[in-house]
This record gives sequence, structure tokens and C-alpha cells, in this order.
Amino acid sequence: MTSRRTRDRLVQRLKDNGIQSEVVLEQIRNVPRHLFVDEALASRAYEDTALPIGLGQTISQPWVVARMTEALLENFEGETVLEIGTGCGYQTAVLAPLVKKIYTVERLPELMRKTRRRLREIDIYNVQFRVGDGWEGWPKYAPYDGIIVAAAAPELPEKLLQQLAPNGRMIIPVGPPRYQDLLQVTRRDDHFEEVSLGAVCFVPLVHGK
Ligand code: SAH
Repeated sequence: MTSRRTRDRLVQRLKDNGIQSEVVLEQIRNVPRHLFVDEALASRAYEDTALPIGLGQTISQPWVVARMTEALLENFEGETVLEIGTGCGYQTAVLAPLVKKIYTVERLPELMRKTRRRLREIDIYNVQFRVGDGWEGWPKYAPYDGIIVAAAAPELPEKLLQQLAPNGRMIIPVGPPRYQDLLQVTRRDDHFEEVSLGAVCFVPLVHGK
């Protein structure tokens, strides 16, 4: 189930569905997704589907992770990324080798504890973790060259916009529960430029800790 062939099949499927970035596809091939889900679900880890990870949360669908990573990194020249909604850390693991430093925020301490350990086990060290409310961002290390949000907000979070560096880019699902628009928001001199990347479905970005 963790064989080269199984992973190649997933990569081929993502290619067929429009993922073009070779570095991103290579990361999808490399990251051991079966280590991010419960053992009982490990046999399904290389299907292109979201899976439950406990505490009412899910591991994102590989296509969504690939699409968000590809969109974040297109012509990306920055170094730091703020990630909101660490969850099991799969998105973090896919992105980490491709950027200098990730600051990641998760509201559930129990999830964060496990994720911290898991990422260390697979030799990922350029990630700083924080248990907190993603609506607040992480002001201490702002501004960020990129921001990636893995939970759905009903509207663009003002504080995250403020923590984006000039020409920095945020990838975020915006909209009601069950159906959101994946937005790419770029900070320009005097405005924010928005591009829609298509429909997605994320768990909500909950208010408060
Ligand atoms: N990035 C994960 C998927 C995360 S699911 C992956 O790669 O699979 C969304 C996560 O956002 C959940 O773990 C949830 O607990 C977290 N979350 C929801 N609201 C939040 C908030 N306000 N601040 C921080 N994290 C939040």
C-alpha cells in the first residue's frame, strides 16, 4: 500500500487533474501520507480523498494540497510562510522542503502535539508551531511572504491580510460551510488582488481558541 506504484498512481491522477508543478508532484510522491492517518485508514492513504483524523478534523485531499502549494509557490521568491490549520501536518510536510521557514498555527493542542512529533520523525525541522487562533495570525514573525489557510473563512480575515508582506500571497478558501471559493490574494501597493482558483470544501476556520 505504500509502494512506489501506489504513489505513482496518485501522482498520475493529480497530473490528469491539472497539477503541473514537478516539484510539488515530487513532494506528493515523497511524503509518506500513510503516517498522517490512523493505521486503520493507512490502506487508503494514497487515494485522492480527504480522510478523518479524529477530533472532527480531516486530512486534506492530496489534490487540494497540491493545488494550494502550487498556487502559493508560483513565481514565489520569498522565504517565510504562515500556515493556518496545521491539523495532521500533511500540507506542512509537502511545503516544508520547498520554503525556508514555516510558521504554523493550530487551535487544537492535542492535534498539534502529535503533529509536532510526526514531522520531527520524518526529519522536518524548519517549522515553528503555535497553538492559537488562526484568525489572529502570528504577529510576532510578520510579515510573511506567503500565507496558506487550510480551513474555510466566511470572509477574508483582516489580520491575515495585514500580516502579508508587499507582493506576498495568501491562498485561502472563502465562503459558507460545504462550498467555498479557493482564493489567491496578492498584496499590491494600495490594494489586494484576488484570483479565484475554483471550488473547494474545507472544515470551518473556527472563531476563538
Ligand atoms: N492542513 C491539514 C488539514 C487541516 S484541517 C492537512 O494537511 O491535512 C483544518 C485544521 O484547521 C483543523 O486541524 C482545525 O482544528 C484547524 N482550525 C480550525 N479553526 C482554526 C483556527 N481558528 N485557528 C487555528 N486552527 C484552526
